[in-house]
Amino acid sequence: MTVAAAATWLEEQLPAMEAALEALVLENSHTGNPAGGRKVGRLLLDVFGMPGLVPEVVKSERFADHLVFRSFGDQNKKPLALVGHLDTVFPPGHFEGYQVDGIYRRGPGVLDMKGGLVVMAWALKAVAVTRGLDGVPPLRLCIVGDEEVGSLEGAPLIRRVIDGCAACLVFESGRANDAIVTRRRGTGNCVCHVHGKAAHSGNDYWAGANAVWAASRLVDQVQALSDKATGTTVNAGLFTGGTSRNTVPAEARVELDLRYETAKAGEELWKGLHAAAEKAAQSVPGTRIELEKVGGRGPMERLPGAEELLTRYNACAVKYGLKGGEAPVQGGASDGNTAAAMGIPVIDGLGPRGTGYHTKDEYIEVGTLVSKAAALAEFLLGA
Ligand SMILES: [Zn+2]
Repeated sequence: MTVAAAATWLEEQLPAMEAALEALVLENSHTGNPAGGRKVGRLLLDVFGMPGLVPEVVKSERFADHLVFRSFGDQNKKPLALVGHLDTVFPPGHFEGYQVDGIYRRGPGVLDMKGGLVVMAWALKAVAVTRGLDGVPPLRLCIVGDEEVGSLEGAPLIRRVIDGCAACLVFESGRANDAIVTRRRGTGNCVCHVHGKAAHSGNDYWAGANAVWAASRLVDQVQALSDKATGTTVNAGLFTGGTSRNTVPAEARVELDLRYETAKAGEELWKGLHAAAEKAAQSVPGTRIELEKVGGRGPMERLPGAEELLTRYNACAVKYGLKGGEAPVQGGASDGNTAAAMGIPVIDGLGPRGTGYHTKDEYIEVGTLVSKAAALAEFLLGA
């Protein structure tokens, strides 16, 4: 039985998995530190070195090089996508090291998501040593170097590499209760440029048009577009404007963070923002407001097909002692959003169990490296 053989092989692999994880974590790979990211990339080329898996290094000027791996696989089956990232949110010197603490392992990226990359690699190794990668569907792996800043290069690369895949598995941080992520909210960034007219506030007050006033009215209205029931939120997180106390401000700027659950809700939200901008500008004569859309990722909606994918993976997870089940919709986006926007069913959060991502309290339960890898190996062998 290949499945049993793969699981047995993995049982002995924890020390090797941990050694790989430690080496990956000790190398700082903050998105803004491409030199460190490239070192992690070289380690990953080693880690993913196995028969039947062909690497491709996709050079980047701005970020660490992105990595793609492909297997030939069983050509009667549609390919499967496995997606991850090698960058972290921690600049050099901010949070470093790898600590052993009972059943926990702590360090930058142990959970988000160097641990997930180790899970991915060892599941593939287990398949490679038992049945061979040619005995499972063709695999398309994409490990990007810029996920934590929104996959500016990573998203187009992913779209190119995973086109035509039957399903996409993403190895972001596993939830504390192993719940599988099927839905993530979409994100958007809106920069509001508010223009007024400068004037001396003592001599020429009525000739001015106060951009800060218009911006304040704008903030009041856009905040009110948030709706707990639908999961749409608007956060006016940055607000600047004016030049001096006694000058009517000619300029103000507001930056909004947007979250929404469906593509339709996203469209409605942008309509609402434009209406609010028009209304706010009209209410302060002489001002006008421009909205600039910067980056953002569409929502990861639960597509037809995701249910079956969830059920199949979940059965594998439970078999290896994981709790499984479906997570509530997540506030943060991932590369899963990109895959779902292509119409590919996605499950996410398949990395090791842990908590504290994006904080200095980031940790994993080390034993789940093995159980998550066993679940993935079984899923691939049954696919
Ligand atoms: Zn991540």
